[in-house]
Amino acid sequence: MMLCLDGQFSEQELSERDELDLRNVSANIWPTVLSRCKANELRLYNLKLASLEGIDRLTNTRRLTLEWAKKIETLEPVSRLSGLTYLAIGDFPRLRHLDGLEKLSELTELRLSGSQGGGSPLRLESIEPVTRISKLTRLSLANAKFEIDDITSLVRCTHLRHLSLTNQFDRSQVAFLASRLNKQLAEPLTAYVKTHLRCMKCNSLTSMFTGRRMPFLCPACDTSRFEKLTRQFEQMMHNA
Ligand SMILES: [Zn+2]
Repeated sequence: MMLCLDGQFSEQELSERDELDLRNVSANIWPTVLSRCKANELRLYNLKLASLEGIDRLTNTRRLTLEWAKKIETLEPVSRLSGLTYLAIGDFPRLRHLDGLEKLSELTELRLSGSQGGGSPLRLESIEPVTRISKLTRLSLANAKFEIDDITSLVRCTHLRHLSLTNQFDRSQVAFLASRLNKQLAEPLTAYVKTHLRCMKCNSLTSMFTGRRMPFLCPACDTSRFEKLTRQFEQMMHNA
C-alpha cells in the first residue's frame, strides 16, 4: 500500500497495513509515522528529514527500505532497530559511514546503492562495518564507492551466500574474493558475465568482464582477448 504523506492519506491505513510504501516523509509527519506505523515491511521514499532519530520505535518492522534522503548523514538510529532482517539503503548523497550497522544481529540481507540509473554514487569511507554483521547472507553493492578502496575484507563474511557487485570494483580484489568465497556462494564470482547486449558485427551475446574499466567482448569476434582476460582472472584467483 502506497501513501503519499504530503497529501491526503488515511491514518487508518498507516496504522493497520502490514506492508507500506510511504512517500515524501517530512519532519512534520515523522512523529505520526513513528507512533502509528506497525508495518512489518516498510519502504520510506523521499525522506526530507535531517535525521532518522526515533526510527527505533518502529519495532514491528523487519524489512526496511530507505530511499532518497538528501540530508541524512548517519544510519546510527537504524542500528537500534534490532529486529531488522532486511535493510536496503539507496541514494543517500550525504551518508559517509555505516558505523553501528554491525549491531543488527538479525540482519541477513543488506543492499547498498547510490542513485538509480548511474547518477551520483553512494560514497562511503569503508565497507568494513558490513563485515561485522554476524548473520549476513546476502549483500548487494551497486553504484557505491569507498574512500578506503578495498572490498577484500568481505572475506570475513562467513555466512555470505549471495554477493552482488556492480562492475566498479578492482578486478584483483574481486578475484581475491572469488578465490576465498566461491565455495560458499550460490553463484560464484567469475571472470565475466553474459549480457543481453548483442555484438554489432555477428549478433552474438556479449560478455561483460569483471572489474573496473573492463570491456564488453564478443566471444566470437574478440576470441583472443576474451580468452586472455579469462585466463588473467583465473591466474589472479590462483595467486590471491
Ligand atoms: Zn561478434
